[in-house]
Amino acid sequence: MNYNLVTNIQWCHQMIAETVPLGLVYYSHIPTAVVSLLVGFFVFFKNRKSLISKLLLGLSLTFSMWLMLSLVVWVANYNSALTMVSWAPLGMLNALFFACSLYFVYVFIDKKDISFFKKVILGLLLLPIVISTPLDINLAGFTMDACEAIEMDMFLNYLLFFEILVSAWIIIFSVQRYLKADDTMRKQIKLLLIGISLFLISFFAAGYYATYVGDFRYELYGLFGMTVFMGFLAYLIVQYKAFNIKLLAAQALVTALVILIASQYLFVRNATNQILTGVTLILALGFGYMLIKSIKAEVERKEQLQKVSDSLAKANDRLRELDNAKSEFISIASHQLRTPLTAIKGFVSLLLEGSYGKLTPKVADVLAKVDTSNTRLVDLVEDLLNLSRIEAGRMEYDFGKVQLTGIIEEIYDTFAVRAKDKKISLEFEKPKGEIPEVTTDKTKIREVISNLVDNAIKYTPKGNVTVRIAPAGEFVRVSVSDTGIGISPEELPYLFQKFSRGKDSVKINVSSTGLGLHVGKKMMEAMGGRIGVDSKGAGAGSTFWVEAPREMGIEIM
Ligand code: ADP
Repeated sequence: MNYNLVTNIQWCHQMIAETVPLGLVYYSHIPTAVVSLLVGFFVFFKNRKSLISKLLLGLSLTFSMWLMLSLVVWVANYNSALTMVSWAPLGMLNALFFACSLYFVYVFIDKKDISFFKKVILGLLLLPIVISTPLDINLAGFTMDACEAIEMDMFLNYLLFFEILVSAWIIIFSVQRYLKADDTMRKQIKLLLIGISLFLISFFAAGYYATYVGDFRYELYGLFGMTVFMGFLAYLIVQYKAFNIKLLAAQALVTALVILIASQYLFVRNATNQILTGVTLILALGFGYMLIKSIKAEVERKEQLQKVSDSLAKANDRLRELDNAKSEFISIASHQLRTPLTAIKGFVSLLLEGSYGKLTPKVADVLAKVDTSNTRLVDLVEDLLNLSRIEAGRMEYDFGKVQLTGIIEEIYDTFAVRAKDKKISLEFEKPKGEIPEVTTDKTKIREVISNLVDNAIKYTPKGNVTVRIAPAGEFVRVSVSDTGIGISPEELPYLFQKFSRGKDSVKINVSSTGLGLHVGKKMMEAMGGRIGVDSKGAGAGSTFWVEAPREMGIEIM
């Protein structure tokens, strides 16, 4: 092999310097290599064990080596021996970082190592390139005319084939995975694919275009693709939180500061300055240490918070599932309960009316108790059914014009006996003027007001219960006041919540469920009305009220 080892080809140097500015040569090689190595080592040291870090390091090492040797080829062109030595491994390094890129893309997307079979294929494809370098069969010699190495055609063509094959492999594989991926993964694959294509394709295209037009400046532009790729990679790392950037930035800042201050010792001669530099150095070290420590603590706290909130979100989902299952259970159970209860109610009434023969007073008394308990059970089942209908969004309303005075009179008649039994005076204060009609569901509003009167009698050991009705702007207000146990200010805000029962009330009304007011509130809201309570406190009685709209669609403030 004739290398024409000339060591002082000044004109080569001159010729190249004239065609390509030396500044561009340095600028395209050195910062690119530095950026690539920095990102490569940074990722590697943050996560030494992971395969993806190793592959990225491999990629940046082979590429930086290629850059360094290429730089030597550019600047040491007056020495043909040096040119040849640096030129020889370029093809091999080129193939290696293409292979590393492919391997990297696989592991990044699939999050696992590639199969043995793929490794063998990749190895076999690389083999001709790798062995031709030490065997010296990739270069034919050195040409004085162009001042460059002459590459063997076979080698060049194979390298071209390899580069195209790997690029196509990367693109096809990424697109296939992209189509199957979820949204977050899609974003990551897109960024990775754009980054790596910019890197490989710009490198590849610029190199071949430069050869094609014979202007090697273009080859230099292609190198910037790597910086862009590293930028994309850095973005991926930050965006998808592969590493802790904040902590690392603080560490880098403090290290740079310390090195900067310490390097002053190289030129500070004066003793006072040396002492000052020493003090500054110690201060920088101290503060730097504290800064890093506090950031570390903050980062750890954040991670912990994240963990807690993740597990809370999971627990919340589980609770929601349980709540749905419970609602469904209540709904089914209530439906099943209602039928036999209605039958019992019917038969007990028939018995009490004497349809099956005359009853002794003792039996009639027991049957009356059975009837009362049964009615309580029917009400409870009705409340539960209403609740499950409301929660499932299946409650239906039948709107129409309603005169509430009539409804109150009906309710009064129903409860008058009970109030009398309890020796409570139940009064309906007749309105002075005309009461306008309201637009609402008659049955539902009767249920809500009944519950208020029922509660008032239940929670009033002695005294009176007064029902009033009056127009209130666009609404008609019905209020039920009692002189009963009242409600403490702490309990007021929770009264209308599901299963909420007052502390004192439990002593009086053992069968209380805390559902009536909640169901009432939901119904009133659905009918465009409102419900509320005023109480001066425990023992001071209370006034529950509902407001129904005169017309549909009135805005509630
Ligand atoms: P229940 O009466 O079955 O417990 P409600 O939802 O109707 O269910 O009432 C919820 C709670 O509100 C009661 O447990 C009681 O503490 C309180 N409460 C309701 N009405 C009155 C009232 N008139 N006076 C005092 N407390 C009341």
